[in-house]
Amino acid sequence: MAKPHVLVIPYPAQGHVMPTMELAQRLVEKGVKVTFVNTEVNHKLVTSNWLDRNGFGGLLQMVSIPDGLEPWEDRTELCRLTTSILQSMAGKLEELIEKINKEDESKITCVIADDCMGLAIRVAKKMGIRRAAFWPASVAFLGSILSYQKFIDDGIIDNNGIPLQDQMIRVSETMPHLKPKNLPWTCFEDSDTVKAFFQVVVEAVEAARLTEWFICNSATGLEPEAFSLYPQLVPIGPLLASNRLANQTGHFWQEDSTCLTWLNQQPNGSVIYLAFGSFTIINQTQFVELALGLELCNRPFLWVVRPGLTKEATATYPDGYIERVGSRGRIVTWAPQQKVLAHPSVACFVSHCGWNSTLEGVTNGRPFLCWPYFADQFYNEDYICDIWKTGLRFKKDEAGIIRREEIRRKVEELLTNKKYVTKALDLKEKVTGSVQKHGRSNKNLGDFIEWIQEKDTN
Ligand code: UDP
Repeated sequence: MAKPHVLVIPYPAQGHVMPTMELAQRLVEKGVKVTFVNTEVNHKLVTSNWLDRNGFGGLLQMVSIPDGLEPWEDRTELCRLTTSILQSMAGKLEELIEKINKEDESKITCVIADDCMGLAIRVAKKMGIRRAAFWPASVAFLGSILSYQKFIDDGIIDNNGIPLQDQMIRVSETMPHLKPKNLPWTCFEDSDTVKAFFQVVVEAVEAARLTEWFICNSATGLEPEAFSLYPQLVPIGPLLASNRLANQTGHFWQEDSTCLTWLNQQPNGSVIYLAFGSFTIINQTQFVELALGLELCNRPFLWVVRPGLTKEATATYPDGYIERVGSRGRIVTWAPQQKVLAHPSVACFVSHCGWNSTLEGVTNGRPFLCWPYFADQFYNEDYICDIWKTGLRFKKDEAGIIRREEIRRKVEELLTNKKYVTKALDLKEKVTGSVQKHGRSNKNLGDFIEWIQEKDTN
């Protein structure tokens, strides 16, 4: 009998591709054949930065379809990219499925799509293929997407998703407030990008109606109110390669593993780890303040300075900085983050609070210093600082800059007041329990995979 064959498609951004790759590998481990569809540009990045080449092949097939832009066009222009995806990818996906079904002895029996790729769910429905949606961010934030019609009815946004007022809003009484400008589609500066993303949101809500399963990379212990508000959302997380002692895959940049050797040389619980994900941009003034703040802390630090972290082509360090800091500071362009956060030398995580980074910090019991950049990162910061109480916020000055003294002060407060690490370790217990043998997320994932397998034999 042919094996179950699932087509898995992420939204084409780093923070979506990585957890979706992990989901794909969990399926493969259970004998499910997976075709993983990236955009052409991301396919090249992901396959060329994959260290353990034995990891794919066999049951995992990596393929690509175009995103509709020309190869040289700038993918950080989100309005262009999103519009192009919405216009062109459904047709390409349909062609791909037809081709696989013609050539492969096991036809596609199920499509699992990032809920931001509602178009893929639509294609699957049209082709009579079973489907499931995957959500790689927090369920609380998903709640704001699922509530968009209510926000229109309440006069908070217009029919294009543009905010009409400034007051804080709530999805429900049990959940934290959100600023209208931090909704998933309103966090962009220009109204065309807001409209394009609002279209993604409208499709995402429609897609949620067309699926039998809606699985989420979260755990009930992290956001119990959100899960009780939306019983149809099924927690299966945190889905981390480190939880099964495997390497994280799906990197858009080459990870620099030499920082692990450097970490081995640092005392336990001493290192400040700083990483701002794949998307954050800071200006040169802020970059210099951060560099000098780290120098003032006088503690070892490991800092990810990703290409593109500053607006300038290359980040410029203060004069003599690298020499002064010497071996106390280690700077890399991309780290094996899950391994770094699991390393005993790490004391805390200065993070932009992307959901994956948040889950990785939580899973390793790390206290946070929050440096959100946009969208859900502010909501995740609220969870970290106000609900879980495992971290602190930075305060900006009138010019919107986090100054070096503020950085030093917050690092000291976080690392000298033991309550943050104690809370972080409590949360770790709760959350890691959910992915262990009898944990709820683990059981849900098992049920989901069984569903994929059962449907195939029907
Ligand atoms: N990451 C990494 N190395 C780095 C920085 C980040 O492997 O140096 C990974 C990190 O482990 C996480 C992902 O990149 O899984 C970033 O996702 P997140 O949701 O935190 O942020 P985004 O990039 O979407 O803003």
